[in-house]
Amino acid sequence: MTDGASPGQGSICLTFDFDTMAAWMGSFRAVTPGVLSRGEFGGRVGIYRVLDVLDRYQVPATFFIPGYTADSFPDAVREIAGRGHEIGHHGYLHEGARSAPDAETEERRLLRGLEALQRAVGVRPVGYRAPMWELSYRLPALLAKHGFLYDSGLMDADHPYRLATGPDEGAASIIELPVHWSLDDWEPYNYLPGITGSGVIASPADVLARWTLELEALVAEGGLFMLTNHPFVSGRASRAVALETLMERARAIDGLWIAAADQIAAHVATLPLTPVVHLPHRA
Ligand code: ZN
Repeated sequence: MTDGASPGQGSICLTFDFDTMAAWMGSFRAVTPGVLSRGEFGGRVGIYRVLDVLDRYQVPATFFIPGYTADSFPDAVREIAGRGHEIGHHGYLHEGARSAPDAETEERRLLRGLEALQRAVGVRPVGYRAPMWELSYRLPALLAKHGFLYDSGLMDADHPYRLATGPDEGAASIIELPVHWSLDDWEPYNYLPGITGSGVIASPADVLARWTLELEALVAEGGLFMLTNHPFVSGRASRAVALETLMERARAIDGLWIAAADQIAAHVATLPLTPVVHLPHRA
C-alpha cells in the first residue's frame, strides 16, 4: 500500500451528521412543518438517545454539525462537546458543492459554519464533511487554507490517505477519511415520499447484519470502518438498540481501535504517505 494507511490493526469510527432541519431546508428546499419535524426529532430526541448509547459504551464519536443546527439547538451541541465528543464542520445550511456557484460562495459558507459552531460551543473544528458528500475539486485547498486537518467524504478507498490540494509538487495536503453509502443509515432507513428513499424501510436487524459483515471483513484487513449515522434517523428506538449491538460486537473484536475521526486523522498525519491528487475528469 503506497498511498494509504491502515491505522494499524483495523479501526472503527462512529460519526453522526447532526443535520436536523438543515438537510431538508438546504438540500431539499423543504419548508413545511411535516418535513422539517423529521429533522427536529434529531435535535429534541434522537441526539440524546444516541449520546446515551455512546455513554454506556464509553465510545468517543464525531459529530459533523451544520451551523444552522448549532444555531437551532445550541444546548444539544454543548451537550455533545460536554460528553467529550469531537465536533466537525458540516456546512451552514447543508449546502452541497453543486449548489455553490463559485469559490467565494463556498468559502463564505465555510466561514458561516465556523462562526455558528464558535457561537454555540466555542469550538474550532479540525474536521469537515461535505453535506451529501458533495465535494468540489477546490474544497481540499479551501480546507487547508482554513487550517482543517482532515476531510471525510470521498469514496475511492476504505483506508485513510493523504489528499493533495493540487497537482503541484509541494502543494499542501490534508488527510482523507473515506466513507461509503453502504455504511450510512440514510439509505436503508430514511423515507419521505417524493423527497428521499424508495419507500422500503429496512429492519434494524438487517442493517445490523449488513454493517457487522463489513466491520468484520474490513477490520480483518486493517481498514477503517467509517460509519455515518444521523440522530434524526438512528435516534429512533429500535435503530439505537441495533447501534448499541454493533458497538458490543466492535468491542468484542480483539485489538480493534475505536476512535473519533480527529484521533485517526492525527495518527495518519504522522505517517510518510504520498499525497493523492484528484483532478477534474473530462470526457
Ligand atoms: Zn448531512
